[in-house]
Amino acid sequence: MSRSAHPAGPRHADVLPEGHHGPPPADLNELDPRVWPRTARRGPDGALTIGGVDVRALVEEFGTPAYFLDEEDFRARCRAWRDAFGPDADVFYAGKAFLCRAVVRWLTEEGLNLDVCSGGELATALAGGMPADRIALHGNNKSAAEIERAVEAGVGRIVLDSLQEIERVAATARRLGRRQRVQLRVTVGVEAHTHEFIATAHEDQKFGLALAGGQAADGVRRVLAQDSLELAGVHSHIGSQIFDTAGFEVAAHRVVGLLKAIRDEHGLELPEIDLGGGLGIAYTPADDPREPHEIARALRDIVTRECDAAGLARPRLSVEPGRAVVGPTAVTVYEVGTTKELPGLRTYVSVDGGMSDNIRTALYDAEYSVALASRTSEAPPMLTRVVGKHCESGDIVVRDAHLPADTAVGDLLAVPATGAYCRSMASNYNHVARPPVVAVRDGRARVLLRRETEEDLLRLDVG
Ligand SMILES: *Cc1c(COP(=O)(O)O)cnc(C)c1O
Repeated sequence: MSRSAHPAGPRHADVLPEGHHGPPPADLNELDPRVWPRTARRGPDGALTIGGVDVRALVEEFGTPAYFLDEEDFRARCRAWRDAFGPDADVFYAGKAFLCRAVVRWLTEEGLNLDVCSGGELATALAGGMPADRIALHGNNKSAAEIERAVEAGVGRIVLDSLQEIERVAATARRLGRRQRVQLRVTVGVEAHTHEFIATAHEDQKFGLALAGGQAADGVRRVLAQDSLELAGVHSHIGSQIFDTAGFEVAAHRVVGLLKAIRDEHGLELPEIDLGGGLGIAYTPADDPREPHEIARALRDIVTRECDAAGLARPRLSVEPGRAVVGPTAVTVYEVGTTKELPGLRTYVSVDGGMSDNIRTALYDAEYSVALASRTSEAPPMLTRVVGKHCESGDIVVRDAHLPADTAVGDLLAVPATGAYCRSMASNYNHVARPPVVAVRDGRARVLLRRETEEDLLRLDVG
C-alpha cells in the first residue's frame, strides 16, 4: 500500500489489496456485541437505542454528528480491568484515548489510576478530582511548566523519558523540596501490533532510553545519583491494538533483565514494573481481542516466570489500557446528506462529519463498522464507502461497508468503537466545529463535552 501502515491500523495492512472487502454480513440489522457498546439494542421499531435512549431522540436533542458514550459499559470495563489485575497491581487508564472531567470521576470511583501526557491532560485530571498520587505523567518532551505543575501537585509518578529529563525533574523536585517518585521508560526493541510483533536489538523511535547499548543502564545510574528522585521502577510500552501477549513476553524478559542488572550493580531491587498499554479492541466482527482477565493472567504469569528465573521478587505490576477501556463504549452518529452511485464500483454515502471527528481511517487506514441506526431495513446489501464532508478525497470514515441498498438522505448512521482516539484527536479542519460527547445511562442522556460553536471558533481569532 502507498499509505504508511500504522500499528493501530488494519489487520494485515500489508497483505490485503486496497479496496478489500469481505462478503456482506448475513444480517445488516444485527448489532454484533463484539463491536457495539454493551447496552446497544434495536428498539421495538428497529431504531438503535443506547443506554436505554432512542438514537432519534438523542439526535433530536443533540444534533449530528455526535458521540454517544455508554456510561454503564465504561464503568463495567473499568471494573473488569481492576478486578482482573487485583489488589497487587495498578491499572492506569491512558487519558489520551479520551479524557474529560466526568471520565476522571468515573475512573476515580471505579478504582483506576490515570496516565496523562501533557499539561492539559494533567489539568483535566486534577479538575476532575483524581487524587494526585494516582496520576502518572508521561511524555518524551515535558515542558518545564508541566514538570513543575506535576511535582507541585504531588503526582504519584513521572515517567522519565530522556537523560535531560532526569536532570530537569531532579532539579525541579529539589527546588520544591520534594522527593519525586519516578519510573524510567526503556525501549526494549519490541514493536507489537495486533497479531504480529517484531523483536530487534534496536528501536528506531523517539520514546524512552534504549536497553541496547547501555543507555537505559546509564539512565538508571543518573536517576540513582539524584537525592530528589526515588526510582520506583521501569516502564515499557510496545505498541497498540495488540491481540497477542507474545510481544509482552519478550518485553518483560528484557525489562526483567534490566532489573537483574540493576540489582547486580546497585544492590537494589526496584519495586515496580509497568508494561504499558496497547491492548486491542474489536473495530469489526473480524477482530477477536482477549478479555481483561486473560490478559491479566498472561502478564502476571510472564512477569512471575521471568522474575523467578532471574531470582528477583516479583515487582508490583502496572498496565495502561486506554483504547481497551473507552474504545468500545462510544458510537458516532451521523446523518446522511448525499449519496452517489458509481455503477460497478460502489455507492459513496456522505455524512455530516468525517476526518475532523475521526482521523483514524485517514491516518492509520483503520477499519470501522457502520450500521443504519434510525431504522432497520430488509433491502439487500450495497457496497458503500462512508465519507465525510471535508475537502479531501482521503476523508473517509468507513472505507468498505455494506449498508442496506435503500439507505437514503436523512437516515442516521452509527459507527461503533469510536470511544478512543476520535474526540481526543478531533480537529477543526475546514472550520468544522467538534461534536459533543453525550453520556447515556438508564434512559437518560447527559452532555459531557458540548458541541463547539462558530462563536468558539471565532473567539480565538483576535483579528
Ligand atoms: C498510548 C499509550 C498508552 C495507551 O495505549 P492504548 O493503545 O490506548 O491502550 C499507554 N501507555 C503509553 C505510554 C502510551 O503512550
